[in-house]
Amino acid sequence: MKCKQCFQEISNYFDGDLDEALKQELMQHLKDCHKCQVVFDTTRTTLDLYCDGKLYPLPDDVRSRLRQALERRRHEPMMT
Ligand SMILES: [Zn+2]
Repeated sequence: MKCKQCFQEISNYFDGDLDEALKQELMQHLKDCHKCQVVFDTTRTTLDLYCDGKLYPLPDDVRSRLRQALERRRHEPMMT
């Protein structure tokens, strides 16, 4: 899995619509890639703060802002 795809899957992961095989691939990539790990952790922390650790569905505006943030990062030149 490439970082670009990883970013996309991270967003899907937190949406809760990642299938088991992709989840495995994502976790594998995160183990090997510190960059994506940071993105993953940042995203999770953001969501944890927002949700107070509970599993609430994200309001659409929060979700789309999150997607936009991930999208922007995907286009950063350092990402290959
Ligand atoms: Zn990566």
